[in-house]
Amino acid sequence: MKKNVVLGTGPAGLTAAIYLARANMNPFVIEGPEPGGQLTTTTDVENFPGFPDGIMGPELMDNMRKQAERFGTEFKRGWVTGVDLSKRPFKIKMEGMEDIETESLIISTGASAKLLQIPGEKENIGRGVSTCATCDGFFFRGKKIIVVGGGDSAMEEAHFLTKFAAEVRVVHRRNELRASKIMQDRAQNNPKITWSLNHTPVEVVAGDKGVTGLKVRNNQTGQEEIFETDGIFVAIGHTPNTSFLNGQINTDDLGYVKVTPGSTVTNIPGVFACGDVQDHKYRQAITAAGSGCMAALDCERFLEGEAVHDWSESL
Ligand code: NAP
Repeated sequence: MKKNVVLGTGPAGLTAAIYLARANMNPFVIEGPEPGGQLTTTTDVENFPGFPDGIMGPELMDNMRKQAERFGTEFKRGWVTGVDLSKRPFKIKMEGMEDIETESLIISTGASAKLLQIPGEKENIGRGVSTCATCDGFFFRGKKIIVVGGGDSAMEEAHFLTKFAAEVRVVHRRNELRASKIMQDRAQNNPKITWSLNHTPVEVVAGDKGVTGLKVRNNQTGQEEIFETDGIFVAIGHTPNTSFLNGQINTDDLGYVKVTPGSTVTNIPGVFACGDVQDHKYRQAITAAGSGCMAALDCERFLEGEAVHDWSESL
């Protein structure tokens, strides 16, 4: 039986592992389908403190993994198909492997940005297609950008990107925006933003150097045209990776794991959550890493029999 299992190897899970390993808690980390998490799909990371010249996303994650390994973290690659959190020890069901039993669990499975699923999109991630304006906006200074989506995220990203871009065009598939009025107003009052509503993206157009355009269909006329652009920010929402929990833990309306504010405590004693799986607001590598540290400390106290939290408090 394991003392502790960490699910996920993004900044949250690996930071939790580093802290647990240094506290002799023998963390056992399960590495899922995207080892290293979302940062492995970006190039330069310039906002993670400690790297004045920036660092490549995959290298940063590789460093975190090595740091966790150095203190004795055990890693296992595999696909978690389900969990049994009804009693301790908890059970983790793995595809093609025996169940793993553990005294405590840290969920750091992250969230995945939704993609448009159109030709040219996946292969141009990091070559002009991005799902994170905070991460990549800086690389588009003085350029033309398209933001796809009509929700709050799209409004926020479009507004944010006008700090860098010469022009930001919002492309949305319907005539009405989904975003809240305040977010719409802010974007609509921004003179750098132009609007192409009622247009459905059909293909990302790219050349040797990356993205050059977005092919769209006008939903009214059915006609297709290419909007020239240097970058496409897909802002159509995120999906927290929680389906394997099968409703056994409290989540909010969007599926994010609920934690007691200011902690990583879930409604099940001994189960903690950190990183993007419990945060749809900040979604940064550094905030994920910070909450990974919190999860390790909360978990350590729990295993040592200390009260981490008044469990009677409702979540
Ligand atoms: P969202 O509200 O679900 O909006 C997603 C947008 O993407 C919608 O306009 C949707 O179009 C469009 N879309 C979805 N799938 C698409 C596809 N395959 N092709 C083209 N367009 C597609 O997601 P979100 O904007 O990420 O917001 C998620 C939650 O976080 C919301 O509750 C939001 O209020 C909150 N949030 C708040 C803030 C803030 O207050 N600062 C910032 C960001 C997010 P349709 O409208 O046609 O469905």
